[in-house]
Formats: sequence, C-alpha cells, structure tokens
Amino acid sequence: MNYEPVPQLKPCPFCGKTPMMKWSLDKPIIECANRKCEIQPSTFLHVTTDNARKLASIWNKRKEDE
Ligand SMILES: [Zn+2]
Repeated sequence: MNYEPVPQLKPCPFCGKTPMMKWSLDKPIIECANRKCEIQPSTFLHVTTDNARKLASIWNKRKEDE
C-alpha cells in the first residue's frame, strides 16, 4: 500500500467537518465521517483511482462542482 502524503482535505460541503481518508482494499476513499451529516459524501461511488493525491484533489474540487 502507498501511504504517500496528501494535500489537506477541504471540509465536507454539507456539514463542514474534515473528511477522512481511508483505504478499502488497495483503493483510497475520502468520505465524511460525521454520522450526523445528512449526506456523508464519499468518493467511493464516484472515483476509482489508487492515487491518494489525485483523489484528494478531486475531493477538494467537488465543493465547487456540485
Ligand atoms: Zn459531512
């Protein structure tokens, strides 16, 4: 597994909490870990990359795209 450093993640656009990056098999996933968040967005459904830095940049872009 590749735990390379990643850019700081922007807060969840729905609840403002800092999201968590975790690993599922060999894929990084960024998701909101706040159980009270209505949406709890996750990159799991949208993004399939094994590059944590790329994933982080996709997460950080989401806020403006949606
Ligand atoms: Zn949230």
